[in-house]
Amino acid sequence: MHRDDTIPAGFCQCGCGQRPRNRKAAYVRGHRPWRQISPDDYTVDGDTGCWNWQRSLNANGYGRISRTTGSRLAHRVAYEQFVAPVPEGMVLDHLCGNPRCVNPEHLEAVTRAVNSQRGRHAKLTPEDVAEIRSLFATMTSVAIARRFNVDRSTIHEIKTGRSWR
Ligand SMILES: [Zn+2]
Ligand SMILES: [Zn+2]
Repeated sequence: MHRDDTIPAGFCQCGCGQRPRNRKAAYVRGHRPWRQISPDDYTVDGDTGCWNWQRSLNANGYGRISRTTGSRLAHRVAYEQFVAPVPEGMVLDHLCGNPRCVNPEHLEAVTRAVNSQRGRHAKLTPEDVAEIRSLFATMTSVAIARRFNVDRSTIHEIKTGRSWR
């Protein structure tokens, strides 16, 4: 686990500048980073340059990283690791169209509007919707809405099955 030595003890080691409520904790709750992606996790396709994820995939073919508190999409973790945090309200578009690919150069952070204009996905991708459905058991609609940067009514529609069938 990466811990930056320049962050003084007593402050959250993610660099946010906050202090964990539990003084012995290294991170504010929810700030502990997900594990880093290593070259063991993917193989490089010599033709396309895609980094094909070799660990578990979700039902829609996207790579995933799991731990006890949930799972994250591998390409999002890769983008955050090699490029930058995905800006608030932006989604990652696979320019190569290969959901298994975690090559950050094949990912572009775009607004949801641009993403749907490109026609590759609806506002939420099918894998987003599947992930959201799996989160209802353990997370509130508000927390899920925040995680996916959509409003609560969208989450509610998924929950009640009014759309996204
Ligand atoms: Zn933090
Ligand atoms: Zn690719």
